[in-house]
Amino acid sequence: MANIDNLLAALDKVRRTGDNRWIACCSAHPDKSPSLSIRYIEGKILIHCHGGCSVDEIVESLGMSLADLMPENPTPSKPIKSRIPASDLLQFIASEATIIWIAAGDIVAGKRLTDADLARVQIARQRLFDAVQECVR
Ligand SMILES: [Zn+2]
Repeated sequence: MANIDNLLAALDKVRRTGDNRWIACCSAHPDKSPSLSIRYIEGKILIHCHGGCSVDEIVESLGMSLADLMPENPTPSKPIKSRIPASDLLQFIASEATIIWIAAGDIVAGKRLTDADLARVQIARQRLFDAVQECVR
């Protein structure tokens, strides 16, 4: 059963970043500046390590299981519809993926990304993460 308080208590440098959103140090890798995003939606805990750790690695490092992230009384009877129309979401993902695609092309070609490009890639990365969260709602 999802208990957001237990999870937050188990993590270091927890900071609230918005409604039911936090950032903390990832417990699955040596993390000096918080790189673990946490969201609590409809009784379900969503976690994402920007350092690349899997959800399995994170819950295991906390001595928890995936079930600890899920609602106590899941309601799988009917799928929860996204608030955003699928076509809009797809268009949004495509435009952010294009940014990543261009940056990846530069990296593959051995070019260094400028600070401005890196900053935009970071934004695209966060937006794609948000879009993925929206897809799995
Ligand atoms: Zn991590």
